[in-house]
Amino acid sequence: MRLEAITGAATWHAETANGNGSVHMTPSEHHATFGDDVFSMKVMRERLPKAVFKKLESTLKRGDALDPSIADTVANAMKDWAIENGATHYTHWFQPLTGLTAEKHDSFLSPDGQGGAIVEFSGDALTQGEPDASSFPSGGIRATFEARGYTAWDATSPVFLRRGENQVTMCIPTAFVSYTGEALDKKTPLLRSMDAVSKAAIRVLEIFGTDAGVSRVYSTCGAEQEYFLIDRRFYYARPDLVLTGRTLFGTQAAKAHELDDHYFGAIPQRILACMADVEAELYRLGVPVKTRHNEVSPSQYEIAPVFENANVSSDHQHLIMQVLQSIAPKYGLQCLLHEKPFAVINGSGKHNNWSLATDTGVNLLDPQDETHTNLQFMVFLCAVLRAVDIHADVLRACIASSGNDHRLGANEAPPAIISIFMGEMLTDLLEQIEKGAPTKTKKGGTMDLGAHTLPDLPRHAGDRNRTSPFAFTGNKFEFRAVGSTASISWPNTVMNVIVAESLDELASQIEVKLGTRKSEPTEAQLKQAVLAVLKPLVKEHKKVIFNGDGYSDAWHDEAEKRGLPNLRDTVDALPALKAKKCIDAFKKFKVLTKAEIESRFNTYAEQYATQIEIEAKTTSSIAKRSILPAAIRHQTDLAESVGALQSADIDAEEQRLALEEFAGMVNDLRAKVITLDEAVESVGGEGIKLAAALRDTVIPAINDVRELADELEHHIADDLWPLPTYQEMLFVK
Ligand code: ADP
Ligand code: MG
Repeated sequence: MRLEAITGAATWHAETANGNGSVHMTPSEHHATFGDDVFSMKVMRERLPKAVFKKLESTLKRGDALDPSIADTVANAMKDWAIENGATHYTHWFQPLTGLTAEKHDSFLSPDGQGGAIVEFSGDALTQGEPDASSFPSGGIRATFEARGYTAWDATSPVFLRRGENQVTMCIPTAFVSYTGEALDKKTPLLRSMDAVSKAAIRVLEIFGTDAGVSRVYSTCGAEQEYFLIDRRFYYARPDLVLTGRTLFGTQAAKAHELDDHYFGAIPQRILACMADVEAELYRLGVPVKTRHNEVSPSQYEIAPVFENANVSSDHQHLIMQVLQSIAPKYGLQCLLHEKPFAVINGSGKHNNWSLATDTGVNLLDPQDETHTNLQFMVFLCAVLRAVDIHADVLRACIASSGNDHRLGANEAPPAIISIFMGEMLTDLLEQIEKGAPTKTKKGGTMDLGAHTLPDLPRHAGDRNRTSPFAFTGNKFEFRAVGSTASISWPNTVMNVIVAESLDELASQIEVKLGTRKSEPTEAQLKQAVLAVLKPLVKEHKKVIFNGDGYSDAWHDEAEKRGLPNLRDTVDALPALKAKKCIDAFKKFKVLTKAEIESRFNTYAEQYATQIEIEAKTTSSIAKRSILPAAIRHQTDLAESVGALQSADIDAEEQRLALEEFAGMVNDLRAKVITLDEAVESVGGEGIKLAAALRDTVIPAINDVRELADELEHHIADDLWPLPTYQEMLFVK
């Protein structure tokens, strides 16, 4: 079966490459116009009466809710546009706590009472929906019988059309709350946190008198997505990939990424065809995807968009994951988004680039040329420094999942210790602030490349550091510890809340220092007040800055000395959400109530436990139903061979010893599987207690089974081995 699969994959490859495959597209078909399937500002301007458009435009600019008086007109124009484009249904598209998106489709058609149907879509249907909330995780906020939930249109994220075989559906990005108004999703808190950080940032701008014309500060975000593409036939022959997203068995191929030949390497034909198709689809959906490249591991790739406002970027990030998964099968491929689909080789993450920008287009984390004179930048920078130091544990908690546990701390991904990489220039600036007043900005200069035909290149004032979980990268912070399957809404919500808290605190402190001179301070007074606040701040919080090698053991020791938390796994990390410090911050900025935060804690603990239970059962089932039977067949072959030698009077001692050793391994595996089954039976409790029990007893038992099975893989005849191997999955492209 495996041989067929490999041949199948290779044939498929050839068909696509030479253009005879069913999905071959001409280059012009790839050139979808950007935003073709989006109810964009341009479409709105064309289709709405002028007065309605003006009203809507200013609503969207301010980030306000839709004015009910224009809702019907907007809905009507939207419906006409969607139907003209082939849509038959619409859906309120939302982000429940599952981490995925949810949708329930409704037809535009309603019976007309005379045996026919009319096409209908009202303002109410656009702005509000009522899905049954009972089957979504609520973390205890709602009992199963309390079913009512509402979705509400987030008008600042555009409506779009999803096209598929035989259907086009109009998707309305929404927030999802319960009958009591509590957030049951990831979007509601994100939107609330964007309001919070906007208000706090504007307070700071007011102090500097740079708030003129600014009505809102947006958190901006661009997330780089890593993923694997493997042949789909192998995927379906691996129940572990199908059920858990990762391989629970498998030894490394003789080659992994030691040669560094995959990273940025030439992209294989079939993969590139798939990527181009994915991009064309995303363009149509208005997702501004920009870069594509091979990643470090064999068969691993990356796609990154241009940054957008955090809520839009979060919706678009979900679309990127969905489109990758829906297009790949057209090319006989399966997209694996799991953080660690394969043991040993690098897993996948999602670099979440984050910044703050005014609605007038100013990036507040842009240090500009003479940074030492840019006091406002220093305040924003120090607010992030303070926030990350105070809430390092919350940042760690917001990216915790069973999948990400395999990555954080392994020598491929940032450590579980949250620290900030500031780089040379900013570290120098912060040192100057701590000493008194900064007087100079460290410059990178230019680089002479030594060949006449090559231009001199400007050099950055600091190198890059890929080992840091949280790095300043030029004019934004890059939170690199986010997992590849994660919704970015939650980490961005946390970023917004903790930075809002610090900006607000700094604004208050600076105002106190300014005292009565608050309304119109001179430049010197302002400088004095700002530095008086920042100096002790740097002293207190610089311990979270680390520019060195985050992979090294020395850093783990050093971090411990500095008192930085090192929360190694999800079970250790999640309780930070329930700590008073975290609840207070979320409450103060009205992003989540105590009950809402606790519901997230419960939901994530439960998700962890469920995931581990599924992995345990899948491990046991594959071991019992695939690997042990193959081992026994192999063992029988060996035994028959020994018998044949003996009856031919040939010395069989060596082979008999080999058989004995092999039979010992088979017995050991059987025993380990029994231990695993018993461990699964023995754990009890619920929530974080269950999660801890699974971590402590079931995960080690899973690992024991794998270790022996992987050892057996080295011994069992290739034609008897029941699962596609790492070599097949990773190197058939
Ligand atoms: P890399 O980190 O691999 O060098 P890039 O420099 O291309 O990658 O940037 C990575 C991501 O950061 C992109 O999605 C980009 O749009 C995003 N980005 C750039 N500027 C900002 C910003 N001001 N706010 C948020 N994201 C940003
Ligand atoms: Mg990056």
